[in-house]
Amino acid sequence: MEALLRFDHVSFSYHTMKGETTALTDISFALQEGEFLSVVGPSGCGKSTILSLIAGLLEPEKGSVFFHGLTRQQADPSIGYMLQRDTLLEWRTIWDNVLLGPEIQGRKNRQMKEKAEELLKRYDLYPFRNSRPSQLSGGMRQRAALIRTLMVEPELLLLDEPFSALDYETRLAVGNDIAKILREEKQTAVLVTHDLSEAISLGDRILVLSRRPASIVHEEILDFPKEMQPLEKRNIPRFQQYFQSIWRQMGHEE
Ligand code: ADP
Ligand code: MG
Repeated sequence: MEALLRFDHVSFSYHTMKGETTALTDISFALQEGEFLSVVGPSGCGKSTILSLIAGLLEPEKGSVFFHGLTRQQADPSIGYMLQRDTLLEWRTIWDNVLLGPEIQGRKNRQMKEKAEELLKRYDLYPFRNSRPSQLSGGMRQRAALIRTLMVEPELLLLDEPFSALDYETRLAVGNDIAKILREEKQTAVLVTHDLSEAISLGDRILVLSRRPASIVHEEILDFPKEMQPLEKRNIPRFQQYFQSIWRQMGHEE
């Protein structure tokens, strides 16, 4: 089967008044439909640049990005984004935030409202539908932001360090919740993070990037029992084994 997304020898540099910054060199990988891919690498190595190339906000300098074997123009993929800041609009209720996408697309119809209701109920936010974002906890806001993104049924969801603004315990809990939602909704996703534990506990597969300019130094299927939740994964020996071997691949000593 043709991969949903494929990077074929992609390189990219930023050009500014101060000169050239090479962010990516020769990145090749494929992402299958339904897969959750973690991409881990040090801060500033080029992770967000990879997501911008997927989103079509940047064009590769060398190489190509394919969707279902087609160019972006041919395939016109629908892509959702989830960022560190949840970007919910404070002057709108949770309900109106969740229905923002359909509203902008001019299809805020009964079907969409039913879908919003169902998702809010399924993920425990329905009682808060008339609240403003600031009345919710950080974790609840991230869930609401995710539901808003899922409303428009993106083919591919991009997560750019979406938990890094949260404190440690909240980050673990929210990561667990978000991973559960994405699995239940069978959402194809790419998560980029500098947090190796997060990358291992959430992904089906991991790509490890070098320091800038990023190249792929390691790739591994994360073979955990299928229904196991991220929080549970962190407590089994296999997790430590992955952590130690990938930590070394990242150029750290033990
Ligand atoms: P990461 O997300 O891994 O932290 P980025 O992809 O944001 O890294 O950035 C990779 C490198 O490219 C960094 O050194 C950063 O300073 C540089 N960079 C990012 N965006 C720009 C830009 N718009 N113009 C110039 N340099 C940039
Ligand atoms: Mg970044």
